[in-house]
Amino acid sequence: MLRITNLRVSIDSTRSLAELAAKKLRIPVEAVTETVISRRALDARRKNNITFVYSLEVKTRLPEGQVLSRLRGDKDVALLQEEAKTPLVPGQEVLTARPVVVGLGPAGMLAALTLAEYGYRPLVLERGQDVETRTRDVAHFWQTGQFNGLSNVQFGEGGAGTFSDGKLTTRVQDPYMREVLDIFVEAGADPEIRYLHKPHIGTDKLRQMVKRIRQRIIALGGEVEFGACVTDLVIKDGCLEGLVVNETRLIPCSVALFGIGHSARDTYHMLYGKGVAMEAKPFAIGVRIEHPQSLIDQAQYGPMAGHPALGAADYALVYHHKAIGRTAYSFCMCPGGLVVAAASEESGVVTNGMSHYSRASGIANSALVVNVNPEDCGGEVLSGIAFQRHYEQLAFQCGGANYQAPVQTVGHFLTGMAPAAYLTAPSYRPGVRDAELRKCLPDFVTATLAQALPDFDRKIRGFAQPGAVMTGVETRTSAPVRLKRDENYLSASVVGLYPIGEGAGYAGGIMSAALDGLHAAAAVIRKYTSR
Ligand code: FAD
Repeated sequence: MLRITNLRVSIDSTRSLAELAAKKLRIPVEAVTETVISRRALDARRKNNITFVYSLEVKTRLPEGQVLSRLRGDKDVALLQEEAKTPLVPGQEVLTARPVVVGLGPAGMLAALTLAEYGYRPLVLERGQDVETRTRDVAHFWQTGQFNGLSNVQFGEGGAGTFSDGKLTTRVQDPYMREVLDIFVEAGADPEIRYLHKPHIGTDKLRQMVKRIRQRIIALGGEVEFGACVTDLVIKDGCLEGLVVNETRLIPCSVALFGIGHSARDTYHMLYGKGVAMEAKPFAIGVRIEHPQSLIDQAQYGPMAGHPALGAADYALVYHHKAIGRTAYSFCMCPGGLVVAAASEESGVVTNGMSHYSRASGIANSALVVNVNPEDCGGEVLSGIAFQRHYEQLAFQCGGANYQAPVQTVGHFLTGMAPAAYLTAPSYRPGVRDAELRKCLPDFVTATLAQALPDFDRKIRGFAQPGAVMTGVETRTSAPVRLKRDENYLSASVVGLYPIGEGAGYAGGIMSAALDGLHAAAAVIRKYTSR
């Protein structure tokens, strides 16, 4: 097979992939027998000539050496090199009970599925509800403001990613990424995620997918319990001997993979109390900002904005405030999405963003956050949690103490002058209340944002328009704590405990959490036998 890279194709091209490959390889189109897209990115740097940039894998009727010899010197055509993966060989140590996976987010799902595929019949304990019940609970919260601490945007089947944009972009380079993408496609994601440079799934597809992955875990001999919160550990001589569920039921086990996410604050406290090795880590907090999607499309695509081959545009912005020594950046940008209420504790307001597969809401939203260091929070291991909670509770009060969120237009935030009309109606539900965001964020955050917004406006014209809407507060960007572990994914203090995913502090986002769960499960498989 041959690999073509850097193949630039106009967004208006009507040529088939075989035609494009044949032209590049300088062979007749009839000689091309198979073309597979391995990557497609968009190059929108030149607004009057936006192109797709493809990498293709191509099979031809002609000997590959012959094709290559005619193209000598073309560095964009080469023989495809298959990456060799080390086979996973189960270990010898005998488990006293089947392995337990705590949490059914992306990390827990991939850990449980990997264990199940190798015959380890994992037991999965998830504190929230199955995705159907959870979807009803979340919709009820968004409609009525009646919050459910047991079943919400952070807790339940699929974890924090279920009500999300389902972006799969990650900085992690991992040969197993392809495997994870295949699992997602098999469970219902669009096959294009396999090759898009910036793939996304959409909350509508995610809700179907997570259910199918659970069904697969069960079909392979695993078991999944919802409403099962791990509230205690039984540790003897530094070794895990069991888990306590809902404060009453003991589950004996010697191996547990903890994929608890960044919002299980009670569980962090419990683990800390049990002497599990952990440390404070940096995170970020700020606001969500909303614009008409057309404004972002115009800035990114210029005259080509609205072209049917181009989806809703995204952006990534960074600004470093030298004097304050802080960085403001956009985070979890959701083209064509909505701002969502993502609290997991009573009396707190937390924002986040989600979108459907179609990304067709007409609204672009993104978090604008500023980095927070452990010293800002008091420097204790768990003080980042108290810090986040403090600002979530202030936002709750500013919003009217009924889960409505405080909003402020950019013009009002920057100048204090009378608020301009909203550029887009705030999409956060159950609703919003005009407020001063400075009252529910640290000064260093608002000062950095105030400097960053004009800079962002230079990069995306109209970004800091007076009517752009900011909703507060965005606090759950990543875990404020890291559960220390070794290179085999094993806790630094408790034998048998495997901290995984975002909550462990080693991943950020759906893809990297899923990969982390997969690799931790592989580490368990390498150590123990399933018999
Ligand atoms: P989580 O997904 O948080 O899962 C942890 C699970 O553990 C939860 O289901 C929780 O209920 C359970 N749990 C916790 N404690 C216990 C306990 N004691 N006992 C039993 N169960 C427990 N990332 C992206 O990459 N792209 C996006 O587009 C994106 N959008 C997002 C939008 C929203 C609204 C939110 C909230 C997050 C978004 N994220 C996104 C972040 C992403 O969802 C997380 O990075 C990812 O889900 C982390 O996976 P995880 O498995 O480590 O943890």
